[in-house]
Amino acid sequence: MKKKISIKKILSWLLGSKSLPFQYTHHFVLLVCAAVYTFSVCFNIALGVSDDFNIYLQMGLVPAIIWIWYQSRWKGNFHKMAIIFAYFLSLVSIPTNWLGNGGSSGPTYLMGMASLIYLSILLRDISLYRRLGQALIVLIPIPLVYIEYLYPELIFSYPDDTLRQIDLTVSFILIGFIVIIIMENYFKRFQLEREKAEYLTEQLRFLSEQDPLTSLYNRRGLDRYFEEKANSHALFSMVILDLDNFKHLNDQRGHSYGDEVLCSLSGVLKDRAIKDKGIAVRLGGEEFVLLLPLNAEDAVESTKKVVAAFSREKLAHGFVTFSAGVAQAEPEESQESLLKRADALLYKAKKSGRACILM
Ligand code: GH3
Ligand code: MG
Ligand code: MG
Repeated sequence: MKKKISIKKILSWLLGSKSLPFQYTHHFVLLVCAAVYTFSVCFNIALGVSDDFNIYLQMGLVPAIIWIWYQSRWKGNFHKMAIIFAYFLSLVSIPTNWLGNGGSSGPTYLMGMASLIYLSILLRDISLYRRLGQALIVLIPIPLVYIEYLYPELIFSYPDDTLRQIDLTVSFILIGFIVIIIMENYFKRFQLEREKAEYLTEQLRFLSEQDPLTSLYNRRGLDRYFEEKANSHALFSMVILDLDNFKHLNDQRGHSYGDEVLCSLSGVLKDRAIKDKGIAVRLGGEEFVLLLPLNAEDAVESTKKVVAAFSREKLAHGFVTFSAGVAQAEPEESQESLLKRADALLYKAKKSGRACILM
């Protein structure tokens, strides 16, 4: 079968995985640099805005950049090659461009600025190399200006002013585009990281509020939800449920069967909570809470539906009952106080023979 070659495949072959945006952008910049140097050689030859020495030098730089790309893309030497490239920019690229493209009246300052931006991003994690590289790029014009002053014959100067204007304009546009691409990718990278951090924070909160056995909310989830409800001054009730004679069932059938029963009731509670737009919580052991946006009477009705649904659950040994206490939250009432009132009703339900709901 013929394999389809798409632009996506070519880009991923050239630049690597998009999930590593820094590598991806760096490989892109390397290849663009190689292309720009090639373009520059042709441009300089065509317009005669550079001397032969600079043209040969630029020709030689192309395979050097390709080698850096190859090592980084295919040999896994990203960091080492990033450092080499950063120093290549400051120690080779800028001085040769200075000598070959009109010195201080050519486009090298622009190139220096773009290199400074790129080096700062490329070596963002390697602060010593980054600072050294930044210092080099900022200070390198000093000896270059000095050389230009002492030995002006070493600098290739433009045959006329129009060619200089053309060279400066083309360089400005090219370098401008490169800087835009670099910055856009950098912002994209930041955005991706921020989205990832937000997702992980949400995930962490979700997990920290979840009971691992039943996937219901745990006490922490209840705390948050209660606070939200209390702050909204909305009407709500708390149902506290406890399985009857669960210890006995555990002793008879084993702990893992007991876990199955807990999960089965949890499923029923979760469905109920979703239907009533509330939440279901495992307080601990075989004790559960439903926090429902209902008054006490409706919360009792809702709990009766839980009894009915739970009785339809297919459990190996037969039927399990639970007792429940239902209390409607008073305005400004604390969670502790509401829990206490619901728990007292549950205790009463247990005392009065279990398998009942009291409010
Ligand atoms: P009552 O009707 O008075 O509530 O009687 P009970 O036996 O249910 O009462 P108690 O609260 O004393 O017993 C709770 C039992 O729940 C004790 C423990 O063995 C069991 N249990 C607590 N957590 C778990 C759990 O995660 N899994 C299982 N399988 N059992 C648990
Ligand atoms: Mg119990
Ligand atoms: Mg209990």
